[in-house]
Amino acid sequence: MRKERVRFAPSPTGRLHIGNARTALFNYLFAAQNEAAFILRIEDTDIERSDPEHEHQLIEALKWLGIEWDEGPDRSGRHGPYRQSERIDLYRKYVDALLERDRAYYCYCTDEELEKTRKEMLLSGVAPKYPGTCRNLTQKERAAFEAARRKPCIRLRTPNTGVIRFQDKIHGTVTFKAEDIGDFVLMRSNGMPSYNFAVVIDDYYMEITTVIRGEDHLANTPRQALLYREFGWNAPMFAHHSLLMGDDGSKLSKRHGVTSVESFRDMGVLPESLINYFALLGGNLVEGREIFSLGELIDAFSLKKAGRSPAIFSQSRLLWVNQQHLKRKSPAETAVLVEPFLEKAGNSFRGREKSWVEAVAAIIGENVKTLKEARAYGPILFEELPVYSERVRQRLAQSEVREIISAFQKRFQLSPSNDKSDLAAILGDVRSGLGKSGRDIFLPLRMAITGIESGPELDRILPLLSPGAIEKRLQAALAFSANEAEDSAKS
Ligand code: GLU
Repeated sequence: MRKERVRFAPSPTGRLHIGNARTALFNYLFAAQNEAAFILRIEDTDIERSDPEHEHQLIEALKWLGIEWDEGPDRSGRHGPYRQSERIDLYRKYVDALLERDRAYYCYCTDEELEKTRKEMLLSGVAPKYPGTCRNLTQKERAAFEAARRKPCIRLRTPNTGVIRFQDKIHGTVTFKAEDIGDFVLMRSNGMPSYNFAVVIDDYYMEITTVIRGEDHLANTPRQALLYREFGWNAPMFAHHSLLMGDDGSKLSKRHGVTSVESFRDMGVLPESLINYFALLGGNLVEGREIFSLGELIDAFSLKKAGRSPAIFSQSRLLWVNQQHLKRKSPAETAVLVEPFLEKAGNSFRGREKSWVEAVAAIIGENVKTLKEARAYGPILFEELPVYSERVRQRLAQSEVREIISAFQKRFQLSPSNDKSDLAAILGDVRSGLGKSGRDIFLPLRMAITGIESGPELDRILPLLSPGAIEKRLQAALAFSANEAEDSAKS
């Protein structure tokens, strides 16, 4: 049997959109399941919008996701070059052959003229298509346009009757009426190929067997099918998967929030979480199970299933998946992942003991949904003093709160320690001294020590602060409280 070959063909016109990353993942998983070759092809024929910097970013984002390819612009392969801008001669050769056989023709219509016709057709209730204005130009008419220095594009002569059919793994046999397809552009007036033309030449030359891409390309496919027919080539199998949608049911775009792979990376979403979520979105992989590694996805993924179901993107669901992956990391792994985010906020693990680092990482890993949220632990665990939230500022000013903190401080000063059992003994003494429950005592202390009302348990935080640091925090809270009380007495 012929070896399967698939490709991911992004246009380097911006950062890698998560919808496209999902397409790349589907290709990758399909390739892994079928022992297929996976090709990365850069479709950079839109010269105004393509940028080598974007190509670099795309490649980095794919690598970060853990998606790997066998052939592409950054590695060798016998089907190269893998950038369309380096394959112009090939497209030229085929378009010349079509012109030669009068299967294609020069079109001199300007954008304004085309737009005008389009509007007129829409107004009269007809689906717009190129009306064939330049289909049968005489030599004289052509010469006149040339003399007027109009730059022509080249269009394919498409049939007016019959049907165009192609096979799609997700949609079955897809049929379009030929009459709905106008003579479409093969080469633009700037000498660059159109998407529909270049994609066919490349998929054929790169021996692609299955084209996996978003449903937004379904309407392009009859044009591509016509070209395969024109050249007498077998068309590949297609698989047009459902698109990522926003919660309003429209195609996911910037309107719905951040959409690039990099923005989720910068937020502290793990690559495995994005991958897991993309695969999950298309429908259940395995009943009752949601968390998968990339390796496990290779076994569990079904292109047919995932491709068909509507995929509504929910950031909160993605963050939940991320949290599950974070919880599965060892403290040592979490420490490595979280460090760059802490450093950005001016905090570092450098010079700290391994046991401290891992204890902190464990707390962070259990409590955050994104690595960026770990920055909130800077004031709690790394810096000299915590930052009081607005609620805490109000509550610290209350005299009952101040009394509890003060009682704790007095007892703490008798035998300062950050040892867990010493601290438990201190707390026990304070409780019985004041005749209060553990709960009554914990909240004021938590506010003094961490600056917030919720978060990880105090008995995990205190041992990570030195006795000196604990004393400093108690002092600061009491000073703040006294100061606030004085202010309110004055006013
Ligand atoms: N460059 C096209 C895109 O990014 C590729 C579509 C295809 O896979 O054929 O949408």
